[in-house]
Amino acid sequence: MILPREKSLTSAQLAEVEGILAEYGCSVTVISGTTRTIYAISGDERDEEMVGRIEGLDYVERFDRIQAPYRLMHHASDLSSHKVRLGDAVLGDGFHVIAGQCTIDPKNPQYFLETAHAVKEAGAVAIRGGVWKPRTSPNAYQGDDKALQILLRAREETGLPVSTEVMEDRHLQVVMDAGVDVIQIGTRNALNYGLLKQVGRGTAGTATVVLLKRGMHMGPVDEFLCAAEYIAAGGNPNVVLCPRGTKPELDGYRNFPDESISPLLKARTWAPVVVDPSHSVGKAAFVPFASLAAAAYGADGLNVETHVCGSKGIGDDPKQAITPATLARLIRDCKEIHGRSAGYRLPVQKA
Ligand code: PEP
Ligand code: MN
Repeated sequence: MILPREKSLTSAQLAEVEGILAEYGCSVTVISGTTRTIYAISGDERDEEMVGRIEGLDYVERFDRIQAPYRLMHHASDLSSHKVRLGDAVLGDGFHVIAGQCTIDPKNPQYFLETAHAVKEAGAVAIRGGVWKPRTSPNAYQGDDKALQILLRAREETGLPVSTEVMEDRHLQVVMDAGVDVIQIGTRNALNYGLLKQVGRGTAGTATVVLLKRGMHMGPVDEFLCAAEYIAAGGNPNVVLCPRGTKPELDGYRNFPDESISPLLKARTWAPVVVDPSHSVGKAAFVPFASLAAAAYGADGLNVETHVCGSKGIGDDPKQAITPATLARLIRDCKEIHGRSAGYRLPVQKA
């Protein structure tokens, strides 16, 4: 990772750096952070001669070598002061909630629009709504491009940023053209490195936030951080980590709740952690407890399924969606608990 003396390198300086790196089989990705631009190196960056030549350039302040398998996401990275912004909110600064339906029903757009206004009223900072859905059965509802127009209308009416999941390159193109604010990568694609690279590159240099769900079969915490690294290495540091429960499930829950990894993640990375309690426990009645636990574990927020009338919804909404009234109460309670847990110090991992 190369840190320039000035805010960024000139194109002539970048070309010189690229020329040196290429001699050692390395290449560089430009990553625009909030305060400065950093230059991430792909390849084996341990060659002493190469490091010496780069460090010798008078416009280079530092050459950082982080040994962890993820470098950009690491707490010691030069990106550690990067702020992930979502509308008016700075994720990682206070407790923020993304809420809305699992699935937008294109046949009943009024529910989504009502839900969008209701979650705004309840205190959510962004609205979620599934346009395309990853379904276990190919015979289940797969989503519909028409739902995107409903999502955009909700943004127009409420003024809040909107979030939806992409599963393939075509979805990515469509949402980038539409200027969707948050791109979700679902649990099933959390280890789809091709998609992670495409999303990183496709959103590079934009303010688009990428919310990465934890893979339901992921084991070590570092596997999650490496998946996030693909997005940052593609050129987009606006990454949010979203634990959402893993398999095998805890008997009675949809998954094994994993909000407890929040402090582990926050000790290793600067990226905000936004927990999804809905897919974790899988039943509306349990969602408040998982949400409060996430706040106690120091998560930076929630991504929670909410519907004005869950029983009339599709996808997960009949089972999992909480009501806007529960959401409003939960946001108040979680903020209070989060404020208390923020008073305890975390051990931050060194390079
Ligand atoms: C969702 O958010 O509706 C969803 C499908 O999430 P996950 O990928 O966590 O199952
Ligand atoms: Mn869902």
